[in-house]
Amino acid sequence: MKISMVSEHASPLAALGGVDAGGQNVHVAALSEALARRGHSVTVYTRKDSPDLPPRVRVGPRLEVVHAEAGPARRLPKDELLPFMGELADAMAKDWGERPPDVVHAHFWMSGLAALDAARREEAGHRVPVVQTFHALGTVKRRHQGAEDTSPPERRWLEPGVGRSADRIIATCSDEVFELKAMDIDTGKVSIAPCGVDLAFFSADGPAEPRRRQHRILSVGRLVPRKGVDLVIRALPHLGAEGYDDVELLIVGGGADPGVLESDPEVRRLLTLAAELGVADRVTLLGQVPRADMPATFRSADAVVCTPWYEPFGIVPLEAMACGVPVVAAAVGGLRDTVVDRVTGIHVPPRDPEAIAAALALLLGDAALRAELGAAGQQRARSRYSWDRVAAETEKAYQLAIAGMPAGADRMEGAAL
Ligand code: UDP
Repeated sequence: MKISMVSEHASPLAALGGVDAGGQNVHVAALSEALARRGHSVTVYTRKDSPDLPPRVRVGPRLEVVHAEAGPARRLPKDELLPFMGELADAMAKDWGERPPDVVHAHFWMSGLAALDAARREEAGHRVPVVQTFHALGTVKRRHQGAEDTSPPERRWLEPGVGRSADRIIATCSDEVFELKAMDIDTGKVSIAPCGVDLAFFSADGPAEPRRRQHRILSVGRLVPRKGVDLVIRALPHLGAEGYDDVELLIVGGGADPGVLESDPEVRRLLTLAAELGVADRVTLLGQVPRADMPATFRSADAVVCTPWYEPFGIVPLEAMACGVPVVAAAVGGLRDTVVDRVTGIHVPPRDPEAIAAALALLLGDAALRAELGAAGQQRARSRYSWDRVAAETEKAYQLAIAGMPAGADRMEGAAL
């Protein structure tokens, strides 16, 4: 198959850990690589967000990344990119020319707009089937972030419109299917395919970073309030009260550039909180850790804590499991599918520092339990979440989208947004 991936803000080639660079980047990169390994030809279209980026980068024999000119060639918050989706569609349609792809797979709602637009251009000659992965939903974000949600107001009606117009939707977890139904989207056209994990890279075998204290707890992710890193800091005094104070909380994520970390308001908020709670000496903010160093960082931990307010999928728990480390996970969204309570980790209610502390005390006090949960996590990651398996499931969704196109479907026939 000839496949076009669209990922407007999340380039598969970007460094990870910044405010808008995380799971989607990993997902698009790894899925595209896995599909190319399966013999498909994949082109990823992402916005050119720096003047230095070349127009095309060949990543492998059947995989390339196109840096499309859509808006200014500098980094912009993703919530400011909506006005440039028409240009992204123009760039894609132009690049397709006479040879449109068999399927276009859009990641995030704005990419869906660009994909649907390009797919219906006359230049494409026929309507190209569009498969949509949302990664995150505005309805869920608004529910949790309320007035702090910086999404453009148009998301309220454009995102459900993308869902209704796409030929097929790939949900990354079962919880998302309920959310799509609540948005009045036909769930008959929804397939579930989770995110995956690079099992050759994330494994329990290999070196571990040295520790500074007896126990190490790890938090990994973009430093945004909804990831709930403050809850882990709030858990530390409770953990201390249970007798575990020789504990280090390592926080990975945040800006990549030197100096960015100190000026980041979320970093300042977390450090102030740690000082107020008297646990500043137990908390280390590492900033962005390069991908190459992540497995050794995971292996150094007794437990990885993922306690977001909500989570469309969450790749970090999978990476931890693949490295044989138990996960303390808020029982929300995708984490309810990936982390099995008392088998590969411990579920805690959302936004509950005391419950986090209780789960951590259980793990830190029992090395055998840690080993057991870690081994089960590794097995679960291996049996269910390889990118090859995820790519095979994604391929099935593509086939359904292609098969579902009316015979001889002509251009411009899709439902209007
Ligand atoms: N990550 C990284 N270095 C960092 C911070 C994060 O490599 O400094 C990676 C992390 O290992 C994971 C991804 O970024 O692969 C975050 O994905 P997740 O789905 O957990 O969160 P999202 O960013 O999608 O909300």
